[in-house]
Amino acid sequence: MGLCLDWYRDCRLCPRECRVDRTAGQCGYCGETAQCRVASRGPHFGEEPSFTGTKGSGTIFFSGCACRCFFCQNHQISGGAVGTLTSIDALETMAFRLVAAGVHNINLVTPDHFWPHVHELCCRLRATGVTLPLLYNSSGYARAEVVAEVADAIDILMPDFKFADPALAERCMGDRRYPELALASIRRMVERRGFLQPWDTSGEITARQGVLVRHLVLPGEVQNSLAVVRRLHEEFSSDLPLSIMSQFLPTPACSARGLLNRRVHLDEYQAVCDEVAALGFERVYTQPELGDDEFMPDFTQDEPFAGNRRR
Ligand code: SF4
Ligand code: SF4
Repeated sequence: MGLCLDWYRDCRLCPRECRVDRTAGQCGYCGETAQCRVASRGPHFGEEPSFTGTKGSGTIFFSGCACRCFFCQNHQISGGAVGTLTSIDALETMAFRLVAAGVHNINLVTPDHFWPHVHELCCRLRATGVTLPLLYNSSGYARAEVVAEVADAIDILMPDFKFADPALAERCMGDRRYPELALASIRRMVERRGFLQPWDTSGEITARQGVLVRHLVLPGEVQNSLAVVRRLHEEFSSDLPLSIMSQFLPTPACSARGLLNRRVHLDEYQAVCDEVAALGFERVYTQPELGDDEFMPDFTQDEPFAGNRRR
């Protein structure tokens, strides 16, 4: 069928519903036209062992993001200039190089606003016999109509659930509807693909299908994190696989606003992990190293992650 640009005209690909014509060069809240931009790609060793395994996760980082969280750890690419215009053929070549490198999956990072390109890429990979799992590494901020298409085409879904507190969502990314929209997205993903499996935290056996939800604990916002894990428990039970992340590092925008301007403290992170355990979640990744900067990216470098450079 080929690349279909219809979603980009009068764009309503995400809950911002900007209704701009990206095919005419207009940008909406995500900052991107209908020309796909890629900021980085390569085998990546900073994901959870279920995805990194022994040979790395085959990441393709897309530029732009519809959330625009002010504290974004990937701010150089989510709201910045870093990224290269990439045709669908070049995107396909990129993915084939990752397959040839022996990665365990094709990991599409912040892909929502380029869904037409991502969908076409998935179709091409499958048509040429690539059977590696396709992984959708997203913010959770999505429209039901789009999530339905995504969950049909993608094997592994790794949405964030960032905010259960509408006021915090409003402060951080300007949309107090985030909690309900993200929960609805995750519900659709779980209905279609189930929970992540197989589950093996050693990295010996990597995941093939299903949903794992990530949550980044923010400094001074433990109540939000507790509400996040309680909502997830109510909705999906303690069988839902989780990744509770402690790697937050303050960015220049945090200093400028005087908000979230420090690392997470150990007692804050521990309080969230204690609640996760009390709720009975068993399939959980945690990050004992607070604010670990091994995988804090610098996208101006050819290899943005120090942890990958050392391999
Ligand atoms: S994908 Fe971009 S242009 Fe389209 S609705 Fe979302 S923010 Fe707006
Ligand atoms: S959703 Fe993720 S990539 Fe997008 S702005 Fe927020 S933190 Fe950054």
